Order: sequence, then C-alpha cells, then structure tokens
Amino acid sequence: MANYHADKKGRYGRFGGAYIPEMLQPNIDDLSARYLDIINSEEFQKEYLSLLKDYVGRPSPLYYAKRLSEKYNTNIFLKREDLNHTGAHKINNTVGQILIAKKMGKERIIAETGAGQHGVATATACALMGLKCVVYMGETDIERQAPNVVRMKMLGAEVVPARSGNKTLKDATNEALRDWICNPEDTFYLIGSVVGPHPYPDMVARLQAVISEEIKVQMKEKTGKENPDYVIACVGGGSNAAGSFYHFLDEESVILVAVEASGLGIDSGETAATIALGDIGIIHGSKTYLMQDDDGQIIEPYSISAGLDYPGIGPQHSHLKDTGRAIFLSATDDEALEAVRELTLLEGIIPALESAHALAALKKMKFNKEDNVVITVSGRGDKDLETYMNRFHLK
Ligand SMILES: *Cc1c(COP(=O)(O)O)cnc(C)c1O
Repeated sequence: MANYHADKKGRYGRFGGAYIPEMLQPNIDDLSARYLDIINSEEFQKEYLSLLKDYVGRPSPLYYAKRLSEKYNTNIFLKREDLNHTGAHKINNTVGQILIAKKMGKERIIAETGAGQHGVATATACALMGLKCVVYMGETDIERQAPNVVRMKMLGAEVVPARSGNKTLKDATNEALRDWICNPEDTFYLIGSVVGPHPYPDMVARLQAVISEEIKVQMKEKTGKENPDYVIACVGGGSNAAGSFYHFLDEESVILVAVEASGLGIDSGETAATIALGDIGIIHGSKTYLMQDDDGQIIEPYSISAGLDYPGIGPQHSHLKDTGRAIFLSATDDEALEAVRELTLLEGIIPALESAHALAALKKMKFNKEDNVVITVSGRGDKDLETYMNRFHLK
C-alpha cells in the first residue's frame, strides 16, 4: 500500500524534507528528535485532550445539513470547526505546539502571521499558558488586518512589523527565522499550517488529526459506518485538510477532495491555486508545489480569503496530488461568495471565506443520493463581515 505519511526525514514521495540554513540545524534536529515521543506520551495526550475538550470546546459537532442535502440530493455532513474557541481549526494546532514547547523547556514563542488568524490563535494559547509571545507580521498586513492586531495585543503578544520586501507574509517568515537563529535556547517557533521544514508538516498534521478522529466516531453514530464516501476541505497551507484526511488516508474507499482558491481565475494572474499552476520548488524550507515566475521568484498570491492566499502548499498535499490519492479542485472568489450565501440562507451558518471554498465544491461534483459527504467548515465568518457587507451590498 502506498505511504502517505512522512518518512523519518520528513519526505512525502519526492516532496518535503528540511531545506534550512545551517544555523537552524540544531533547533530543527532537537525538535525532530523529540516531537514524536512528546506527542505520544501519556502525559501530553492527557493534557492536550483535556484542553481540547474544556478550552477549545471539542468534539466539534458533525452536523447533518438537511436543507443543503436536499438541494444537492445527497447526504451532507458539516464538521463544525467554526464552533471552536477563536472560531477556527487553528487553535487545535497552537494549543498542541505550546504544550510541546513547554515540555521542551521553552519560555518564548515566536510566530509569523499573514492575515493574523494564526497570530491570534498563537497569542491565545500563549496567554493560556503564560508564555511570552512575539508575532512577526508584514507592515502591509498590519494595516490591512487591524482587528486581529488588536486581538493579539490584548492577549499580551508583541506584534513586530516586518518592513522588508512586500511587507507581507514571506517577509514576516524571514524575520521569524532570523529571530529563531538568534535565540535557539529559549525560543520555540510555532508554525501555523502543514508547511515549513520537517518535522512541522507532520507535527501539525498529527495535531489537526483530531478532526478526522472525531469524524470517524461521529459518522459511526449517525450512519452506522465510520467512513464517509467523500471528505472535502479547503487548502491554504493545508492544515484543516490534512487533519480532516488523516485517519482516512489508508481507507481507499474514501474520496478525499481538497479545494484551492483560484482568486479571479486560475489563468488571471490573481490566484492562489498552487497545485493547478503546478511548479515544484523550495519554499519555507520544504520541497513542494508553489507559484513562481520564470526566474524562480515566488509570485505574490491572491484570493479574497486571506487564509488561502499562500504561494505554496504543504508537502503532503503535493504527494497526495502526485499519487492521485486526493482530488484537487479550485474555487474562485465569486464561487466562494455564492457558497457563503447558500450556506447562510439554507442552514443559518455564516462560514469563513476560506471554508466557503470547500462548500463551493458541491457545485463541481456529482454525488449519488445515498452518498455520505463530509465537508469541513474550517472557520466562522465573523472576521469576513466587512467583505460580506460590501460584496452583498448590505450597507
Ligand atoms: C487559516 C485558515 C485556513 C487555511 O489554512 P489551512 O492550513 O489550509 O487549513 C482555512 N480556513 C480558515 C478559517 C482559516 O483561518
């Protein structure tokens, strides 16, 4: 059977690995040597599961969406990550990595953030655990994402502007890496998706795997069968998809569907559909599909949803694409907005723009009446209200 997980060096087929400056090697080696023992220890599992339950609010419901199901003439179940504390799946990962950091004796957490969602989830977990938190953020993003900057500051984080390059995510990442090189002893670098050098993609996937673990139990309760026919999730870096797929990877009867953001269209030049454009290179310390120009420079991505406009994708997803284990679709800004409106009016759930890309897959696929289709609603739409107000003319 094909192996869809990371090998010891963090390779997924021809993807993954750890392409890092030599000065980071000791930090990465230390984390690689310890993360599995920590995650698999009884003590970690006990603390992690207790926080997921009482702090995050898990298990998140698996909701049978009756009116949506009727419309598409199939059985649609929504995995409600939008109901988690802080409104998305990202908290599953940050709470887990903070616990790992503590076990490693670290006292200071650094992170980078683009839209600010990962910054808020990190600052939240740091406040919870009483750890110092420094978040690097491009100066342009700080201006664009003011509410999340306020949240981070309220939570006690220091938000440091990255002033190089385009002053966006890539520049913030560079600053965070520089910080880690300078502070290897006391500092833990907390990455927000299944991206970056090994062991991050595997570590984050394991922490988000709680999503598919719960889906199995909940599907069994609701339908008598653990496995649905389809699992659908949106992908930016790919962590909510990786978590939604994790326990189904070796269940070949389950069709896995990942939906990228194609922005104004795959060929418009204003897109984040990494897999669809399909170049291979190295980004953020990992070999994977990415968007680059003829000179190998990373192309600035675009999507209406800030959480999906990432120019790469986690290496496991690149491998799932190569092996054909997952189907990759894409949805435009307009298709995502239509899906927001549909879910809101049919089910009374206002999803995040990111999550709406997964919902937009319903119009692109053909299901049978008896199929069970699980769609992960990765987050809630509160943060996107200004976009909805403008695009739906609600002023
Ligand atoms: C950040 C974010 C995403 C994209 O991140 P992944 O790592 O691809 O899951 C998707 N949905 C929401 C709500 C987000 O905040």
